[in-house]
Order: sequence, then structure tokens, then C-alpha cells
Amino acid sequence: MNTATRSVWTLDELARPATPLQADLSCDVCVVGGGIAGLTTAYLLARDGKKVVVLDAKPELAAGETEYTTAHLAWYLDDTFSHLSSVRGDDVAKAAAASHRAAIDLIDEIVRSERIACDFRQVDGHLIPGADGPDTLKEEVKTLTRLGLPFERTTLTFPGGQSSECLRFTAHAQFHPIKYLTALTAALRTHGGVTHTSTVVEKVRGGEPCKVTTKHGQTVTAAAVVIATNNPFEGGTILHTKVASYTTYAIAVKVPKGSFGDGLCWDTEDPYHYVRTQPGEEGKEFDYLIVGGEDHKTGQADDQPQRWDRLLAWTRERFPGMGEVRCHWSGQVFETADGLALIGAAPWNGPNVFVITGDSGMGMTHGTLGARLLADLLRGAQRMLNFWTCTMVHGDPRSFLQQLARMATVSGLVT
Ligand SMILES: Cc1cc2nc3c(=O)[nH]c(=O)nc-3n(C[C@H](O)[C@H](O)[C@H](O)COP(=O)(O)OP(=O)(O)OC[C@H]3O[C@@H](n4cnc5c(N)ncnc54)[C@H](O)[C@@H]3O)c2cc1C
Repeated sequence: MNTATRSVWTLDELARPATPLQADLSCDVCVVGGGIAGLTTAYLLARDGKKVVVLDAKPELAAGETEYTTAHLAWYLDDTFSHLSSVRGDDVAKAAAASHRAAIDLIDEIVRSERIACDFRQVDGHLIPGADGPDTLKEEVKTLTRLGLPFERTTLTFPGGQSSECLRFTAHAQFHPIKYLTALTAALRTHGGVTHTSTVVEKVRGGEPCKVTTKHGQTVTAAAVVIATNNPFEGGTILHTKVASYTTYAIAVKVPKGSFGDGLCWDTEDPYHYVRTQPGEEGKEFDYLIVGGEDHKTGQADDQPQRWDRLLAWTRERFPGMGEVRCHWSGQVFETADGLALIGAAPWNGPNVFVITGDSGMGMTHGTLGARLLADLLRGAQRMLNFWTCTMVHGDPRSFLQQLARMATVSGLVT
């Protein structure tokens, strides 16, 4: 493919300035990793009056997997509700839907309260059958009905004429993640938060206090540490037996403004395809159609160019009016067995160290709900739990913690 390997979000060239850590610091909470999970955690804590420091290895913030996302904000699970309820039961499946909805609501609330211009809007999500045929929706319809989750059966027709039954879900959303996080970082700083880039963390030691040591020898002393590096650097076998890395691919092609309407769409194929649009850069009279898919286990394929070509062929068939390909890129997602993230106490680092990982391809919402979960935990009930789970039902912190503790126990994941 004859375009730059860069993500569509970098085309605006938004400045994300920050400076390296030059001296030792102390704070209430040190957040390692400045992607959506880390920055949201830091923002929520700073908004609550905590003294927060964010450290990131890259020269810019939000330049990890967050820069490569396609930023569907979905409460419908990538790995399907049928899969989750078969491995964790109906209660957890319902709680997972509520958790991702709470994450979308939280982003909405932050966008409104901080007046962030990031193209956020609520849209419908559409699940369509892939080449594997319409029967693939049947099982999911049964599960969704049993769980009482809202969906509607309708028909989706692509501009290329391909038409199929689909399941429509309301209350999904989309946004421009870098616009969102650039503004969120500014808000974080307004609340007293500090960010440092080009600062590689080498060691995190839990305790009272915790100690974070950087590659260049500076130390941050903190009452608590949140490791939000997507793939934690010290997890060893405890973590790496629980997540599997997959590579996923995306392209952005120009389409006439408004020509393909709103909405997220994805299919049931394995690997699946996922599609959304995004307005062109400021003042540009076109949209981008962003199409992703062609996932494989990282390290188990060496045909990257063909994967982008297949994505392009899939897109051209369904969107014959498409214009030039503007950019293409790929990135990593970390899958767990049940499709839910791992959020909670980091068992390898000692006390007062927490982690958000195992995004399962839904890191926009998992990162956000993980941030909400850990910020609530650090606000008051840090010692109540020692768990590995991901699901939360947002609301009254006490009932949420009780639910969380119950689910962690049910799942046998309490350490
Ligand atoms: C092509 C693609 C499409 C996707 N589409 C979607 C989607 O539609 N919806 C969705 O919800 N999710 C999607 N995802 C997943 C989502 O993008 C990620 O799960 C999410 O961005 C992860 O955010 P994060 O904050 O956990 O990690 P990151 O954004 O990777 O942030 C981690 C940060 O930690 C820093 N770091 C790492 N190690 C260290 C260290 N030792 N010291 C200091 N800093 C360190 C990194 O520099 C990085 O900035 C997609 C991913 C890809 C690749």
C-alpha cells in the first residue's frame, strides 16, 4: 500500500508537549503510562484533589496503542455476549455490558464538563453476519434476549449493495481519541496533575510508600502506583499466562462528506472487520472511512502488506465510491480468556500497586472503566480488595465494591 504507516489521528498534527522527569518527586499517586487508561486515571484522581504524576516512556503522551486505535466506543463486546456468558455466567455478562455503558457515559460526562471538542457523538452499533452466513447471529440473539440487553433486528445495506440482517445497538459512541486526550491532559494539569514524557520506568516497588525508579535514576515516591502501560513491563509469568497479544490492521480512506452516515459496524467473521467514519481534519470537505481487521496472533504471520490489501479489497467492494487511501497502520491488542480486562491489585509488585491491562480490543472503554474503578478504589477503599477482575457496575461506590468483590469471588480470581 502506497501510503504512510501512521494512524488517522496523527494527521491533525496536534501538539502533545511534555518534558522528561529531571528530579525526584513525591505525590499521592504515580501513574505509569500516558494512554487513555493512565490519563483518565490521573484526571479522575486529580479532579478528586489527589496529587498525581504521570510518567510515559515516549516523547509524546497518548502515543502508545491509543494512537493506533479506531476508537469505537462500544458496550457490545468484541468477543460476544454468548462467549462471555458461557465462560463467566449471565450475571457477569450483564455487568460487563453495564460497565462499558458506564465508560461511554463517563467519557460523555468528561467531554461535557471539560467542554472538549473531540467529535464525540452517540451512534448506533451494528453487528452484521460475515462471509460465514446469517446463522452466526442466531446464538447471539438468544443470549441477548436471555440477558435482557437491548437490541433491534434490522437490515443494513452497504453502498456497494451488499445487504444483510443485522443487530442494531443504541448508545454506542465515537470520538477523536487524540483530541480528547490532549484536552483531558490540559484539564489534568489545571487540576494540579503533572506529566512527564521520555521517562522510562524500570522498577515499581509497592509499600508504604511505593517507589518508582526511572531508567535515568530518578525516583518517584507515592502512596499508590497505577501501572497503565497496556502491556505491563514487570508482570512476568503471572500476567503473561493470562493475556495473548494480537496484531490488528487498519486503513483510512477518503469519502465524500456525509456519504456513509453515522454508526459503528462490525461483522461476525474471525478475524472480524470493523468500520466507522470520522470527519476530515479542520476545514476539510471529506470524511475518513476507517476500516480495521485482519487480526492474527502476534508473531504468527509475516504477510502484513497482503493483510492491508485484503482490507482494502473488502472496503472497495462495499464502498465503491471511496476515494484515495490516506494512511494505514497496525497495532497490538491484548486478549484475555473471557474478553474482559484485568484491573486491580498488581500481584507481583507488593502493596498499593494497581494495574489496568488485557484490553481485549476494547481499550477505550476498558481503559476508562479501569480508571473509574481504580480512582474509586484509591479514593477510599484501597485495602478492601485484592482481586483480578474487570467488571464494575458504576454508581454508589459501596454497592459497586460489594458487587466487584462478589464477582471476583465467583470467578475464582481472588488472589
Ligand atoms: C488498530 C487498532 C484498533 C483498535 N480499535 C479499538 C476500538 O475501536 N475500540 C476500543 O475500545 N479499543 C480499540 N483498540 C484498542 C485500544 O486502542 C487500546 O486497548 C488502548 O488504546 C490501550 O490504551 P492504554 O492506555 O491501556 O495503553 P497505551 O495507549 O499503549 O498507553 C500505554 C503507555 O504506557 C507507556 N509505557 C509503556 N511502558 C512504559 C514504561 N516502562 N515506562 C513508562 N511508560 C511506559 C507507553 O509509552 C504508552 O504511552 C484498538 C487497537 C488497535 C491497535
